[in-house]
Amino acid sequence: MLLHKMRKKLLLGNWKMNKLASEAKEFALASAPFAALAKKNNIEIGVAPTYLSLATVKEFASKDMIVAAQNVHFMDHGAYTGEVSVPMLKEFGIDWVIIGHSERRAYDNETNQKCHDKMKVLFENNMVPVYCVGETLAEFEAGQTKAVVGRQVREGLADFSADDVKRLVVAYEPVWSIGTGKNASSEIAEDICGFVRETLRDMFGSVADEIRVLYGGSVKPVNVKEYLSCPNVDGALVGGASLKIESFEELLTNIL
Ligand code: PEP
Repeated sequence: MLLHKMRKKLLLGNWKMNKLASEAKEFALASAPFAALAKKNNIEIGVAPTYLSLATVKEFASKDMIVAAQNVHFMDHGAYTGEVSVPMLKEFGIDWVIIGHSERRAYDNETNQKCHDKMKVLFENNMVPVYCVGETLAEFEAGQTKAVVGRQVREGLADFSADDVKRLVVAYEPVWSIGTGKNASSEIAEDICGFVRETLRDMFGSVADEIRVLYGGSVKPVNVKEYLSCPNVDGALVGGASLKIESFEELLTNIL
């Protein structure tokens, strides 16, 4: 069996700052049929709602859907106004967290070190980080993609053990393709996802073959299959096209 066949495909929707809790509930209530379809086809699916909708989606979505937070603080509690901690997520059964999304890196000063501190707490609590990496347009045009992504992987994951990272998911999301409709080609996605895996192998050894590496950036029903056909692309992190139930369903059915 090819090594990549061992990795379960993963389709994760990042809702960003979208959907009222009532709208999130509507999506959750409709999730049973497509969650069952995904399970039957050995594909994992999930969504990352806002903090205010997490509990609702967790309660009303199919138990086969992953429900992920979009961020977390690295401290358990304390004087950190506006933040949410791991124990607070765990109380609601939330085990997955997106870390270092480019929008947080750009607007909230989320550095590789901060991502590292957050992932440390997640690993300590047997949780799953979806660690986002990716270069800006200027970096892409300057031919610096691998230098930038390599640094994000090495600094964000420095000093963890192979045992820690076996739960990790990495998402390669070129910043210039997020929400822009400007896709990275499947060749670029495969090349950089493969590079991420090589970097993980260099750092952690053979566990790299078990870590899922996703592509993200203007993934739509029409192009999702092309990305997921690449040997080193184990799934997709999807923003815009994950918001509507029909579109999410279509993303799934198009990769079956
Ligand atoms: C994202 O938010 O991670 C993303 C990839 O967004 P979009 O699919 O809208 O480009």
